[in-house]
Amino acid sequence: MGLPHAPRFAYYDGKSQPASSTSSFQTINPATNTPLADIHTTTHAAIDAAIASAQKAFPSWSSTPAIERARILQRAASLLRARNDDLAKVETDDTGKPFTETSTVDIVTGADVLEYFASLVASGGLNGETIQLRPDAWVYSTKNPLGVCAGIGAWNYPIQIALWKSAPCLAAGNTMVYKPSEFTPLHATLLAEIYTEAGVPPGVFNVVHGAGDVGAYLTTHPSIAKVSFTGQVSTGQKVAGSAAGGMKYVTMELGGKSACIILPDADISQAVDGAMMANFFSTGQVCTNGTRVFVPESLKAEFERVLLEKMQHVRAGDVMAPETNFGPLVSKVHWEKVNSYIRHGINVDKAKLLCGGPETPSWLANHSNPAYKEGFWVQPTVFTDCTDDMKIVQEEIFGPVMSILPYKTVEEVVQRANNTSVGLAAGVFTKDLNLAHQIIGQLEAGITWVNTWGESPAEMSVGGWKMSGVGVENGKKGLEAWVRNKSTLVEMAGEVPTVFAKL
Ligand code: NDP
Repeated sequence: MGLPHAPRFAYYDGKSQPASSTSSFQTINPATNTPLADIHTTTHAAIDAAIASAQKAFPSWSSTPAIERARILQRAASLLRARNDDLAKVETDDTGKPFTETSTVDIVTGADVLEYFASLVASGGLNGETIQLRPDAWVYSTKNPLGVCAGIGAWNYPIQIALWKSAPCLAAGNTMVYKPSEFTPLHATLLAEIYTEAGVPPGVFNVVHGAGDVGAYLTTHPSIAKVSFTGQVSTGQKVAGSAAGGMKYVTMELGGKSACIILPDADISQAVDGAMMANFFSTGQVCTNGTRVFVPESLKAEFERVLLEKMQHVRAGDVMAPETNFGPLVSKVHWEKVNSYIRHGINVDKAKLLCGGPETPSWLANHSNPAYKEGFWVQPTVFTDCTDDMKIVQEEIFGPVMSILPYKTVEEVVQRANNTSVGLAAGVFTKDLNLAHQIIGQLEAGITWVNTWGESPAEMSVGGWKMSGVGVENGKKGLEAWVRNKSTLVEMAGEVPTVFAKL
């Protein structure tokens, strides 16, 4: 019997290319641990060909008027919206995320960003500055595309990440070679086909497939001007290091261990909802997860009571069912990693287990689809009475594992929230908005929320502080990451300043 999805090949020159080698791997449905498609690994020669295709397309695409590029990208956004449910189904197969999530978030937030950057460049977002220096001298600056850029994506928001990188890249007049994660590669060809159908010329958006070595080849390639990377801190360090050798521009969107701070006056129901979004959405596989939940000692018992009540509404099960809001983890290797952290929390950190744990979820025994027993399912897990020195509190787990950390004073909680090498996100729940902003002002994180968690609209520039990254994506600042500046001084008085004048 054939696999549910067509095989995937490298995509360049506006079409899927025949396999350039016999090497291939399979992408797996995490809900059932069954193969979805054969993915053909792109050889170095084929990566060179994809880059050459992008180089060939660059002069014409970069000189296409911004308003025309915008028109084409808007068409791609419309195609994405029209095919939302089909694409969401593919993302659900590939990531295991419930259809209720992929059909309302993953494609929508990608299309939003495409529309945002198309509108931005069509309405002067790429304009430079004019500075009148003197009556007869002025400076003007222009924003120029970088050339061929590499995009390298993580597996948690596959099509969204591909769009958050390619939308500003293409809107600014660059061309791109994109490598999706080997764990979730299905979307990339579909996105390339949509771009082509919308009128994006051949070579402007290209896809290569494979694991880290394919990414490493891209990041060191002399013809790549910029690397936009989303992934773990440790991989980001390697990628930024090798890109630095070639003096390439980089954007690094890396991991975190974010603090979700509940203040004593917080609306408890709202705070619990926020903490749950910050830990269980996408089965905890979100970079901005607020896994360190700081709760005042005075509120801890009530917070835990309401949390346990609301945990009943986490519904794992058939990933296509309208009631399901909690899927499996993305892969076996990640499932093993998350479970080992849960075991470590119990056995070594000696944290108090409030709910969940490493055991197989009980609902699996009675599930109508027996294949689900083979999937990478875990229980949403909450530890309480945690301390800052615990491994589960210090390291990014990237799974549905919440740590509740009791605290006494605001000064203490700010200091503890900042006591980490990463600084991706943070948030505060309180009715006292003055205090909220005072705390936000002291938090060492690039993305912060007040009385909410997780929303990341196209208009909002997002990026990490400290080891969580370099640069931002989205918002007006997100466009700046895809252009370089040229300044020109024009002298109209007919005199060149010189020290070499005749005495
Ligand atoms: P990884 O760092 O393992 O991989 C990310 C991408 O890099 C994959 O495509 C991977 O290929 C590729 N890669 C691996 N090694 C190299 C290399 N030496 N050179 C170039 N590319 C390489 O991250 P995950 O996929 O596990 O993603 C999870 C991580 O991503 C978490 O830490 C999460 O916090 C972070 N993340 C950050 C976001 C942000 O905006 N800050 C958003 C989403 C996730 P392959 O996997 O195919 O081997």
